[in-house]
Amino acid sequence: MDTDMVTRRKSPKKSTVRIQCPRCGNDTEFFEIADGVVLTTRYLQNSDGSFTQEGDESEVLGEIKFFCAECNQDLTQHHKRFLEMLF
Ligand SMILES: [Zn+2]
Repeated sequence: MDTDMVTRRKSPKKSTVRIQCPRCGNDTEFFEIADGVVLTTRYLQNSDGSFTQEGDESEVLGEIKFFCAECNQDLTQHHKRFLEMLF
């Protein structure tokens, strides 16, 4: 079982098809825009009255869009794939 896992990790079966902008051919720079984002940051107050940030959570309430950074073409159709390839 262990051997199988190692083999799978070394040879990914998914082909690497890069996302490319159909309008300008850009395949390196993209940006993501999220609507209605709620940013929540948790703080702890210390004994001397100062605060320490403990963590932050963001919640996207609206739509997330994905654009080409070169020509602003809407590439939202590729967003799902972008998330799969995001490490
Ligand atoms: Zn483009």
